[in-house]
Order: sequence, then C-alpha cells, then structure tokens
Amino acid sequence: MSYLVFARKYRPKSFKEVIGQEHITITLANAIKKNRIAHSFLFTGPRGTGKTSTARILSMSLNCESGPKENPCQECTNCIEIQKGINPDVIEIDGASNRGIDQIRELKENIYFSPVRSKYKIYIIDEVHMLTREAFNALLKILEEPPAHVIFIFATTEPHKLPETIISRCQRFDFRRLTILEITNQLKSISHNEKIDIDEDALLKIANLSDGCLRDAEGFLDKAFSFSEDKITTDTVNRLSGIPDFSIFKALLKHINEKNSSGISNIVNTIYNSGYDISLFLQQLIKLYRIIYQLKLSNNSINGFSDDVISSLKEYTNYSEISLIATINTLFEIESNIKYTPISSIYLEIKLIFISNLDKFIDIDTYIINSENSQISNYKPIKKTNEHCDKNNISNNNAIPISDPNKWDDFLKYVDDNSPRLHPFLIDTNLVSIDKNVISIVTKNEIHKDMLLKDYFSNFQKLINQFFSGTYKIVIGVSKSVSENIEKEDNNLNLIKKVFNAEIEEIRRDNA
Ligand SMILES: [Zn+2]
Repeated sequence: MSYLVFARKYRPKSFKEVIGQEHITITLANAIKKNRIAHSFLFTGPRGTGKTSTARILSMSLNCESGPKENPCQECTNCIEIQKGINPDVIEIDGASNRGIDQIRELKENIYFSPVRSKYKIYIIDEVHMLTREAFNALLKILEEPPAHVIFIFATTEPHKLPETIISRCQRFDFRRLTILEITNQLKSISHNEKIDIDEDALLKIANLSDGCLRDAEGFLDKAFSFSEDKITTDTVNRLSGIPDFSIFKALLKHINEKNSSGISNIVNTIYNSGYDISLFLQQLIKLYRIIYQLKLSNNSINGFSDDVISSLKEYTNYSEISLIATINTLFEIESNIKYTPISSIYLEIKLIFISNLDKFIDIDTYIINSENSQISNYKPIKKTNEHCDKNNISNNNAIPISDPNKWDDFLKYVDDNSPRLHPFLIDTNLVSIDKNVISIVTKNEIHKDMLLKDYFSNFQKLINQFFSGTYKIVIGVSKSVSENIEKEDNNLNLIKKVFNAEIEEIRRDNA
C-alpha cells in the first residue's frame, strides 16, 4: 500500500471521529436522524479544523447507499468514492483556484440534472469567499429556489468576505480552533498506532506550534518521524521548526527583565548566527509573554507548556498588566515590520532593548493603540500634563467635542442587531471622544481590543462608519484604570487629557 501522510491517513470518516467540533457534528447527526436537512450549509473557521472532512462526512451520511443516516456505512461505493473525493454526485469546487470561474459555469449548466446514482447532488465549495461577484450572483439565484436534489456545503476561513445575502440563506456552523490537549491526544494516538517513540515535551511543542490547526500538527509529526532516526525529542522539534530551545528564551526574558542590553545583544547574535527563523522566534516570544499575562490574571493552569516553562514564566508576573500589553504590542509591531528592515538584526536588538526599558518610554495612562493601517501600537514619550483642567478657558478652534455617552449605547444596540458576533467584544468599551474623523474608545480587555483591531476590524470599521455617518479612524485604548475612571467620575475630561496627552483648552456643549 502506498504511503499516506498522517493528515490523510487519520482523516475522520464519521461524525464521532471529528475532534473538537462536537457542537457541530452532534447537530448535523441529529438533523439527519430527524430528516431535517437544510439545502445550504456554511462551515466557517480556521484552517485545518475539520471543515472539509465534516463536509465529506455529511455527504456520506446523505448519499450512503443505505442512507441517509447519521452513521454512514463507509463501505458502499458512494461512501468510498466520497472519501476519496471522486464521487460523481459530490462535486468539490476550490473557490481559490481561478476564483471558481469555470467550475461555477459548469455548476450552472448541470445543477438541474438529477444526481447520477445518489439521492442528492452535493456541491462542496471550499474557500467560497474567493469566488467572483458573478459567481456569487449565480449562486444566489440558485439558493433562492434550489432544486430539491441539490445541497450546498460552503467552507471558508473568512466568512466576513461573503455577501450577507448568501450567509442568510445558509445554516451556519462555526468550527473552532482545537485546544492543545485535543491536539496532543490525537498526536499521542497516532504515535501509538505508528509505534513512534516521542517525548511528552516534544508532543506539547508540536501541539503548540500548530496554533489550533490539527492538520499542521499531524503534518509536523509526520515530518519529525521521517527526520528522526529513533526517538523524537524537543531537540528534533526545535531543529525542524526553526525555533530556538526554551533555554534561549529563558535567558532573553531574564536580560529584558534586568535591562541587560549586552545580554540582549548576545542573544540576538546567537539567534542570527544559528539561522533560526526570526518570525517564528518572535511569535514564540509573543506566546511566552501572553502566558505571563495569563498567569498574572489568574492562577489557572496553562495547557501546552511543561511545568519547567511555566515555573520560569511565573517569575515575571510582577510586571504590570499594561506593561505586558505594551510589550506584546511592541513584539507584534516588530514581527510585522522586521521583514521590511534591511538591517534586521540591529532593528531586533534595539527593539528588544526598547522593550526592556518600556517603563521609561510609556506612561500607563497615556498608552494608546492606533488602528490606522492595522498598525497596533503607538507610544508617546512620557510628558506629565497639568492635572488641572480649566473648563471656562475657551480659546481653541480644534477642540475635541465631548461625546454623548448615550450615543455609544445606541451604537452597541446597532451592533447587536447587525453583527451579533462582534457585539460581545464591545460590551466593556466606553466612548472617549468622537471627532469628525476620529473615534476614540477604551476597553478593559486586551483580548477584546485585539479582536476589534484584527479579526473583526473591517466589520467594526464598517459599522462605525455606517452608524456615525462618516469615515472614521478608530483609536482603542486599553487601560483598566482609565475605564474605571469613566465609571467613577462620570466625566471624561481627564480621560481625554490622558489619552491624548493634552491640555483641554476649549469645551463645546450642545445647546440642548
Ligand atoms: Zn455507505
């Protein structure tokens, strides 16, 4: 039998075998059992989390020769062909290849013909967000009145790029990233089956590197197995991944904490001279600071790292919450800029020394994050402002208008109505100010800020622009103390001073 990579060999063949998506597979199995089958499904979620596998299992369940049934036989011609992707009634279309132009044309021509030998004609369209506008229009026409024998399963990593008209006609299922534990268990089970000798720490490291994507983790195990002569150790994983051993990170964290610039320089030299992947190195460093942040917030156990790593990281939980957030933000900034920097080793060295001296460069209360061009950090040198605010001093034309905080509540309702998935990330935000082209808000939650500036940014910006009728730059600050001030003082004057590091020279109020 020819060699099959682990990701294919261990691809799930039934709903029960799909890992970590029980909220979806149980619902689908029940729908089949009760014969309540939708005409179009939308599977969304990160790559490598089981969308296409689930689409094939759903197809098998529907078209199994003894089906439809929630547990397809896996033995009939239909089941076997669907698993291999060669069944004439289950047509798989890759939206990313040529944006589906030829395949959607074919689909339009053939869709009204009955299936060749099954109950349903099933179209699985992967990366559906890549389709052309014409293709979406054609699909929409079909979805409005689908032939009884046709079922669509759309899969996408970027559902926000789909027209609302398509989404609203689908039964939507959101696949989630797998946890470290789920991935580690699957790797263990594969290792056991394949008689692979592998360290527990090496398993953890692979699970960690895969960022919730099971396919990547299985691919890495495959590679490590081919690469190693006998046992797979963390050293094998380090060499293959291009990420330095934890001992190097441990030394770096210590030098940063001690503001030891020459120590930092030595580590940067080591990393460059050893040929490690700088981007992966930075991503790993971000993860470590993120864990320090999590450890600071709660004493809950952190999965995916050995006890040694966790106890080393616990030494740094005395950093303030804001300085950890600022550190992580700076690391993200370095990670996105370093590839454009010709002398990247010096850039990295200086930036890490900068991080070690963050307390000299930023003032917690004036720390703001600027979303322009997806750039997420913006430091202002510390400049103490006069705390006194003279409300009667009216002299400047460029005043920041004082917002009406009711307005923000209305906006939140608007978000809840139009984008329920975005709403939870805004519930702990407060409006600081709204100018003709800048909206400033603060949140208490660093993760929510990240979600707003990254995953949900385009949607958030669209709703802001719609609701406030304009084109706005969004400024999001994260500060527990700042947010609390709003609640306590019921007055955001001081906050504006702090966020903008400015003196207030004029206040205008509505006559009403
Ligand atoms: Zn079957």
